[in-house]
Amino acid sequence: MLTGGAILGLTGRPVSGSEGDEKLTIGSVFQPDPDGKYRIGIPGIVVDKGELPSRSPLITERPNWPKEVLLKSIRQGPADRPLIGLTVDDAFLARGEVLDALVSKNVKATFFMIGRIAASDPGFIKRALDLGYEFGNHTFSHGDLTRMTPDQMRVDIKRGQEAMLAVDARAQTAPFLRPPGGARNSATDLAGADMGFRSINWNVSGDTGATYTSDQLVRLYLNDQIDKMKNPWGSILLIHFNARTASGLLGIIDGLRVRNLEPVSLSKLFEGDRI
Ligand SMILES: [Zn+2]
Repeated sequence: MLTGGAILGLTGRPVSGSEGDEKLTIGSVFQPDPDGKYRIGIPGIVVDKGELPSRSPLITERPNWPKEVLLKSIRQGPADRPLIGLTVDDAFLARGEVLDALVSKNVKATFFMIGRIAASDPGFIKRALDLGYEFGNHTFSHGDLTRMTPDQMRVDIKRGQEAMLAVDARAQTAPFLRPPGGARNSATDLAGADMGFRSINWNVSGDTGATYTSDQLVRLYLNDQIDKMKNPWGSILLIHFNARTASGLLGIIDGLRVRNLEPVSLSKLFEGDRI
């Protein structure tokens, strides 16, 4: 029950609908009185306990999987919710365009940026983190892990992680490993798991052709793949950073939503340590 007008936080901005606003310090502003009402420092404004807006963290907590789960590589996530994990790989091109497209649709995703190009665009990494996007590990070299010795695999994964963290300490990549080219086997799964990573591949993809229009991309992802599945819930969709995909992405997101599917980050897909 709200009396006396709008609810304002410390910043003077409306609290309602401000989920994710880091500037709000709801805990310190809204201390309930013994009668269960929240009083804020503006005369006449009292809020019932039950009316407080829930404040989602800016970034969903990453799954904390035990080793036996880390060892299980997957291509499709949990199918208990109508969510689609959206992953964007490599980051050679059109980083800002893809990020802009996602922001314009209020969609979160997980970015598998190649470690060796991380230092070339710290602005992108920082902006993505500021906006609540997360990164996974796509190794440093983007070489084929299955052609490496276990020591080489571990070094490449570790350097991939370090290159991201060197740009921004928030750019944690664990526990998500996207083996370059999707190339994995039990040895690469083990190398990743030893370091706290699980190989996450995909079951929907296709933006690798030389040319395609936005409409073709939408048809390829939705009509040709999603619509042909018995149950698309929990699917993991792979796209790449490039300009054609950036424009087609808008249609893919709209098309998923028309189908009552919501694209989300991997942390959201695996929320609550789902496996
Ligand atoms: Zn790649």
